[in-house]
Amino acid sequence: MTSGFALHEIVLDAEGKPCDYRFIDVNPAFEAITGLARADTVGRCVRELLPNIEPHWIERYGAVALTGDGQQFDDFSSDLDRQYRVTVYRPEPQQFAVIVDDITALRRHEESLRQAATVFEQTRDGVAITDASARIIAVNRAFSKITGYSSEEVVGRNTSLLKSGHHDAAFYAAMWSQLTGKGFWEGEVCNRRKNGEHYPQWLTISAVLNERNEIERYIGVFTDISRIRNAEAHAEFIAYHDALTRLPNRSLLNIRYQHALDRARRHDHKLALLILDLDLFRNINDSLGHEFGDRLLVAITERFKSRLRDEDTLARLHGDEFAVLMEDVEVSADAAVVARDLLKALEAPFRIGSAEDIYIGASIGISISPDDGCDPALLMRNADTAVNLAKAQGRKTFCFYTESLTTLALERMRLESSLRKAIELEHLVLHYQPLIEARTGAVIGSEALVRWPDPEQGMIAPMRFIPVAEDCGLIAPLGAWVLLTACRQMKAWLDAGRPLRTIAVNVSPRQFFLQDVPELVRQTLADTGLDARFLELEITEGILIEHGERAVAILKRLRELGVRLSIDDFGTGYSSLSYLKRFPIDKLKIDRSFVRDITSDANAAEIASTIIAMARSLQLSVLAEGVETPAQLAFLERHGCEYYQGYFFCRPVAAAQFPESCPVTSP
Ligand code: C2E
Ligand code: MG
Ligand code: MG
Repeated sequence: MTSGFALHEIVLDAEGKPCDYRFIDVNPAFEAITGLARADTVGRCVRELLPNIEPHWIERYGAVALTGDGQQFDDFSSDLDRQYRVTVYRPEPQQFAVIVDDITALRRHEESLRQAATVFEQTRDGVAITDASARIIAVNRAFSKITGYSSEEVVGRNTSLLKSGHHDAAFYAAMWSQLTGKGFWEGEVCNRRKNGEHYPQWLTISAVLNERNEIERYIGVFTDISRIRNAEAHAEFIAYHDALTRLPNRSLLNIRYQHALDRARRHDHKLALLILDLDLFRNINDSLGHEFGDRLLVAITERFKSRLRDEDTLARLHGDEFAVLMEDVEVSADAAVVARDLLKALEAPFRIGSAEDIYIGASIGISISPDDGCDPALLMRNADTAVNLAKAQGRKTFCFYTESLTTLALERMRLESSLRKAIELEHLVLHYQPLIEARTGAVIGSEALVRWPDPEQGMIAPMRFIPVAEDCGLIAPLGAWVLLTACRQMKAWLDAGRPLRTIAVNVSPRQFFLQDVPELVRQTLADTGLDARFLELEITEGILIEHGERAVAILKRLRELGVRLSIDDFGTGYSSLSYLKRFPIDKLKIDRSFVRDITSDANAAEIASTIIAMARSLQLSVLAEGVETPAQLAFLERHGCEYYQGYFFCRPVAAAQFPESCPVTSP
């Protein structure tokens, strides 16, 4: 745009000072800029023409006119909201010329540049301007803050300086191809700070073209999103992990399971899913508190982890349930090995804080893909079913899932409901097995053993229904019924003049959680009129281990009632001498598995004789269970066992068949 031009003649006042300017000529640009038509201006004075003109025009420009030096002013016209650059000079002593340029657009551009510069410096986004070959021309303060590089360190260098090595060549190739093609790229990039740290940034790159439409510069604007990423990662971690043990949770296990199934199918491998249910964990929560339970779970997790390969996924499904996903399983037996290992991992006691040593077992169910199906939900259900079978087999063991297991699970549910009915209707019966005194060979008492006569199945053995009763809580009414019936029977025998000293009744560890056993015993003795000294309660080592100090208190209350306590199935738990000393126990019953092998297995013989010696040193009575042969009897006699029980003398029988004496054939 050409400049406006106006030529004036200087008008002097009486004292010879310039007081006005008369237009001699103006050009079309001047007309356009000022809106003053040439016809209206030429020959007229400024003051006359523009009475409201900014007064300084006349003063300032007049001063210039007097000195004769050319000068430039930037002026602002308030009425027109525009800016002009006015160059003033005096071509002739009597003349005064102005060149006027409308600099409004220029000023606005400058202003926006200034603002841009401020934004450039102040923004929290990192900005880097590069030339067409990605050499850095300028960076802002945020750039330095985020990357750790000062402006001096990076200007002149290629942006590849910032790379982390995280992305491959294909990534950059795609970026450059879009940049050159579309002039724009946006995405997440992992870069490296000066201190070496990698961080994610959200980067927007725009290409700046020159007049010839060639790329001249790139402007990269980026945000450090590591904090967002960290928060996201945290949220994601929480969503897929168990907060307590930090193990994958069920959701993550399912995802991994799905992937593993796909892989296994492709590579023709087997996959094993193990579900682990901690035995009687709720007892620990009940008796020692949830906080303790939590710490125990963490400790258990550590042990499991130490037994597993890195490629196995250990997950916590909920509460006391864990799962292990094993890939690349060749034969099902591989899973059994791992299951056994995990059970072994639990063998040593847990020491949490200053609390008692805790012993805990697990029941493990295993399902194998593709043998047991290829659908994750189904395999999960199958493994669950197998867990229940493991529990039914007496816990601390593992079981595989097979078709028949499902049937078993259904059977078990039926068993539970008919057991409930049998207890209510008092359809259960007690059999009694004589207890023999070694010294005299006399029947000195009996152990009450519960049976469930079923019209179709005949006598159902306690090993089949006691665990069910324990699991569903029926053990409380069942135990109360057994205690009452046994005490009543003993009282009847005593009243009939039988020379018996002991009626032994089994108490399940679970009963101690469900009912106040000492109170139950007190009440039952009162109701039946049986003297407490005749009653012996058989407990298992499980209660001592699981209840610790609480067990001591309960057992003491029982002893105060005058009843005796024996440890049943002794030798199968984690019995230790020091452990036993702390409990008020009267008798040990050597488990029949040792007695069975006494004559064939040196180990069993060693254990049995040790238990007898140990019982003696602790001043405990000792009874051998399951004596079946004269050879076993001879061994036990030799080692000084005090009492016997077993088929050799008499099987458990109904009260009416209970013998006065048993044949004792001492070799
Ligand atoms: P237990 O208390 O150790 O009972 C001894 C078991 O060994 C009984 O099995 C008995 O029949 C069996 N037995 C006795 N002598 C011999 C022998 O010479 N050879 C062999 N092979 N076995 C022998 P049973 O009656 O099947 O009871 C199994 C278990 O069920 C009992 O083991 C006990 O733990 C539990 N139980 C039985 N009745 C009750 C009860 O009323 N309450 C509770 N809580 N548990 C009970
Ligand atoms: Mg018993
Ligand atoms: Mg026993």
